[in-house]
Amino acid sequence: MTTHASEPNDPADLDHDPATLEAMGTAVLERVVAHLAALPDMDVRGLNEAEALCRQLEQNEPPETGSDLESVLEPYFSSWVEQSFNTASPGYLAYVPGGGLFESALAAFLAAATNRFTGVWQPAPALVQLEANVLRWLCGWMSYPEASRGLLTTGGSMANFTAIVCAREEKLGVQLREGVLYTSTQVHGCVAKSARMAGILADRVRAIPVDDNFRMDVAALGRAIDEDRQRGLQPFMVVSSAGTVNTGCVDPLDAIADLCAREGLWHHCDGAYGACFHIVPALRPQLSGLERTDSLTLDPHKGLFLSYGIGALLVRDGEVLRRAHAETASYLPAPTETFYDPSQYGPELSRDYRGLRLWLPIQLLGAARFRAALAEKRALAVDAAERLSALPGVVMDAWPDLSLFAFHVSWEGASRDEENRATADLMERVTARGRVMFTGCTIDGRHLARVCVLSFRTRAAQIDALLEDCEAELSALLVERAGARAG
Ligand SMILES: *Cc1c(COP(=O)(O)O)cnc(C)c1O
Repeated sequence: MTTHASEPNDPADLDHDPATLEAMGTAVLERVVAHLAALPDMDVRGLNEAEALCRQLEQNEPPETGSDLESVLEPYFSSWVEQSFNTASPGYLAYVPGGGLFESALAAFLAAATNRFTGVWQPAPALVQLEANVLRWLCGWMSYPEASRGLLTTGGSMANFTAIVCAREEKLGVQLREGVLYTSTQVHGCVAKSARMAGILADRVRAIPVDDNFRMDVAALGRAIDEDRQRGLQPFMVVSSAGTVNTGCVDPLDAIADLCAREGLWHHCDGAYGACFHIVPALRPQLSGLERTDSLTLDPHKGLFLSYGIGALLVRDGEVLRRAHAETASYLPAPTETFYDPSQYGPELSRDYRGLRLWLPIQLLGAARFRAALAEKRALAVDAAERLSALPGVVMDAWPDLSLFAFHVSWEGASRDEENRATADLMERVTARGRVMFTGCTIDGRHLARVCVLSFRTRAAQIDALLEDCEAELSALLVERAGARAG
């Protein structure tokens, strides 16, 4: 009798013998390697039959008996993964690109397969120490002091949320309702959501206007703080951006730090997109003042090229992070005072051992290669912006402070609406060619195309493809528009 996966001799035994484990692992690895080899030639957007596919996949009941691995791997790669934005593609210049270093995928597998408990220090001290090391490296890279501590989160959103909790605990205590939080009109949407989750409701969140370069207007910030004080409210926190998601612009962090120091406010910086560029010494002037913030969000699944699911919060005074989360339980070992203990610095207990996903790539590649890759992404973005801006019909709205820039399409006598439609058209037509993908945003009624270079796979060849495809589509588009006007 053969032992098929769906008809085991002993249905309660969920384990496998070593030969089966190896066969299953090899089957997955072979598929992954083939997939990664094909990545550069796959359509960068990939999506064309999403609705039909999702209808077909809908399934309300779990299968009663199992199926073999191959019957899942086949559609996973040939259909489910293929029908998606190809966020791992070298040509992906949309939103903030992903990537996913192979080293971080291996770490995810290692961590899950060995499955040790890293929520507190005692059950896996060495593994937790690796995570503590990685947090120290991040603090060093951001020029944060010795007393700083951090927390690895699932992403930038949760890091921003935890920062608001820290500021709230430190500055407001039990008086939540009077507290006012300040951001700019360009801040990421997760900040308003995080404020709400942290008990700071929408009527206590101010969106400060930005200047012509999309940077927070610090004079307006000062006036808003004064007005709120006069109304008897309690300003407690400013959330600045080190690289906004719309245009990549970096707020005047030094001026905001000065103001926060004068006013006694907590200064948190959302560096989910841009903070990792601080690792490159030559780029630190672009982020001047970052090192003076009270807390800082970074997103290693963006800026350090890792697979999704890893963000980080750093807090200048590590004790504040600890006070906001420290808790004991009679059934757990007492927290160690000597070593880093994740459960004392964050909200989770049982959790994914995400530290390994950050530690292994840095350990295997070394810091120098991350610096080189980040410096290259910045240089590629500057090169792309310069070459694009030289094309007829392109108006640059935001030059790259880091590796993201924004522009729109324009021609003599065009209305705002016509320009908006042409800019959206250009994005669609270039993306439809399949080699590079970029997306847009709307600011004050103006539609902007935005290009973000942050995948480790994006190299000079993709910037050339971007230029070729933009030039071809732009000239076709301008000829059509001119024809429409003449006709
Ligand atoms: C991506 C991003 C976020 C949200 O981070 P997630 O990792 O997606 O949760 C917040 N702020 C900025 C500027 C971002 O680019």
